[in-house]
Amino acid sequence: MSLSTIAGPSLLVPLGALGLVFGSFVTALSYRLPRGESVARGRSHCPACGHVLTVPDLLPILSWVAQGGACRHCRAQVSWRYPAIEAVTMALFIAAGLAAADLTHLVLLLAMTPVMVALAVIDLEHQRLPNSLTIMLAMLALAWRWRGDGDILSGLTAAAAVALLGALLNVGFRKLKGKPGLGMGDTKLFALAGLALPLGSYLLFMTIAGVLGVIWGGLWRWRLGISHFPFAPAILAAYWLSLVAGETLLERLVILRMG
Ligand SMILES: [Zn+2]
Repeated sequence: MSLSTIAGPSLLVPLGALGLVFGSFVTALSYRLPRGESVARGRSHCPACGHVLTVPDLLPILSWVAQGGACRHCRAQVSWRYPAIEAVTMALFIAAGLAAADLTHLVLLLAMTPVMVALAVIDLEHQRLPNSLTIMLAMLALAWRWRGDGDILSGLTAAAAVALLGALLNVGFRKLKGKPGLGMGDTKLFALAGLALPLGSYLLFMTIAGVLGVIWGGLWRWRLGISHFPFAPAILAAYWLSLVAGETLLERLVILRMG
């Protein structure tokens, strides 16, 4: 039984609102962190005219729609990615509420989700994954494992093995092809997923990440004509899915095979 069946749909409205607030934080974080700007200090301002943004400019999604996707002061265009990030975060918060097994897992998921969305956005825009965010995600992964089967030792072993394998692949690829196989940032994501997920869920995660990666890479090549694509959004989507539904999916697979 999931949490939403116990708490009812009344849980989903506040979760959606919370998702919008965190989505708004993610837009600021994913803009400021790679540019070396302070995340905590300094009020948001329009990058075009420098106007300090106030409440009417900062309402998630609503401000963007009401102002026709432009700054209220100088009419400079405001990218659609801001409301898109807010909408995605909101949807993920609601989905987390629908799928979480209990309150602790819900809280952990709600803590992980904004970090994961920020990492995906930063990788898309800058092709890198800031350590401050991957470390935070690794800590949350350990907490998740601790509240799951509690087998922290297996988690640490899996993460170390994956990190070693990723590093070896990198060295091998560099020697053979003169370019890295899997980026170090992507390797860190695969390793930290090993902290959280038991073996069955981890294999499922690898499979989903592989399939999403092929689709995502194909789209990237087709639309942009570039073979090198940011892999992290696909890895993070697979990780999120495996955290939320890994065990349920595995049970279904087992039932399909037995039946
Ligand atoms: Zn402006």
